[in-house]
Amino acid sequence: MKILSAIGLLCLATCVQASLYFGPPDGENIIDVADQGGYLFKVEKGIYIQTDSEEFLLGISTLFENLKHTRTGKAIIKQVSHYHPLSLPQGDRALAFKSLGQNAATMEKIHVVIRPSQSGKQFVTEPLITSSRFMGHQSNGLGVPAAIYFDIENTVMLPGLDVAIDPTIALGHELIHARDYLTGGLPVGTQPVRHRAPIPGMNHQGEAFTEGEVVEFNLMRREIEATGLAYQKGNLSLKTLTTTREAAIDRRQSIISVWEQAIKEHRVSKAEYSRIKTNIQLLKSEMPVSEYHLSMELGAHARDMYWPGSMISYTSTPTNITLKQAKQSSYSLSRSSLNTSIISDVLSRSPKSPMLISTSLIERKNGFPKLDKVLRTALELAAKSEQHVVLVKGDEFSSLSEFEQQLTIITIEKALVSIRKNQYALTVIEMNASEIIGTGLEIVTKANQIILLSTHHDLSSLAISEYISAGGKRLVVNRISRSILPSESLLYPNRLRWSTLAEQDNVTLVANSALPKSKKCWSL
Ligand SMILES: [Zn+2]
Repeated sequence: MKILSAIGLLCLATCVQASLYFGPPDGENIIDVADQGGYLFKVEKGIYIQTDSEEFLLGISTLFENLKHTRTGKAIIKQVSHYHPLSLPQGDRALAFKSLGQNAATMEKIHVVIRPSQSGKQFVTEPLITSSRFMGHQSNGLGVPAAIYFDIENTVMLPGLDVAIDPTIALGHELIHARDYLTGGLPVGTQPVRHRAPIPGMNHQGEAFTEGEVVEFNLMRREIEATGLAYQKGNLSLKTLTTTREAAIDRRQSIISVWEQAIKEHRVSKAEYSRIKTNIQLLKSEMPVSEYHLSMELGAHARDMYWPGSMISYTSTPTNITLKQAKQSSYSLSRSSLNTSIISDVLSRSPKSPMLISTSLIERKNGFPKLDKVLRTALELAAKSEQHVVLVKGDEFSSLSEFEQQLTIITIEKALVSIRKNQYALTVIEMNASEIIGTGLEIVTKANQIILLSTHHDLSSLAISEYISAGGKRLVVNRISRSILPSESLLYPNRLRWSTLAEQDNVTLVANSALPKSKKCWSL
């Protein structure tokens, strides 16, 4: 049924309090792990983002989109998505979170959790386990889930060079560490290296070195691997796995023998055995990946050495990640298109619902208003069912010249007249300090149910929604995602206002995709 794809909020009494946006977790796209850090938002199979910030969610999603444009990036994502921690027969497998009231199957889906930097952890990947007894799994072939702490606001400068590390490459690097944790192949120990210091620093014995001095030190193998130094030095073909990775794969593959024994002795089910076998078999076709591979594909400067932060001081610079439209996944993000089925459904059930359209949806080209597909469809839907259309002055409206403001109103009015084939006087509303004012006030006051369309970042629409909701009217809001730079409207307090609004019984925020039918709480 169509209405199942809308978020209704009668269920809120039974759902955990939303710390983030709309809608209770569904165990698939949004998982409640009963953790202070908030819900997990799925970005790819097995990969989740845990945050309260839409900006972080969009930033990381953008980096994933970038990664998918490269062969190496795709391979890294595939490996992290598909490899999962294994258990020994009749043993436990390492889980990222305790399965409190949730079944273990949901917890098993969580391979990697990406979190904003915290407690000094920045560009760090570490095991994410519920008990230290699983610590050994990180290097014995069984594997553990991993957490990545990532800073989307800053990026690190390569020492001695005026080059910032591309955040996409930085994320790829951390995901390779995560892959190593997941497959129980985290390289252990260090290896002695010799390299010319790009800047002054201090070695692990506390002895200072100067720029240009050849320094010998022990470098962690995990960094040699993730950075891909063997490839960078030209010691190894890009199509060949390193001996360290090969050894890790062998170790994991050997686990199958204990499972073969167990199935012979009927200690494990056939299903359990096949699951392990299938996952282990994926290793056969593993594509070599490293930061070096990724840098080559992205045409970026590749590091010729990994200098530990304990030896030299890194500087960082603000990133400029444009928050692209995140196509994928979760309900947390608003839609990129109009949900015509839901909007038509509301219109046909409630023939007197006016449609409020925020001017934030009107794009401009050379100073002239431009109606895109979303707006045209909305106007057609409204016209077809002869609904009133009221224009809401969006955030940017007041910054337009009087002429541009008039032109905006006339453009919509003309579009409506051409669709309706008769005269139509468009009315306008806006929010002043405490109430709605404008020529459209009467239409809004008389209505029992109102449909509002706006961009996901329009604060004027938010204020009007709050006002309408407080007046007890039924309100259906379809927020359309638009690509924008980080802005005030994406700040958590404003997101909280949307989520608080979503918790009202009389408000429906149109979700991104169909929700599972089992959720009986979803209704319009
Ligand atoms: Zn690293």
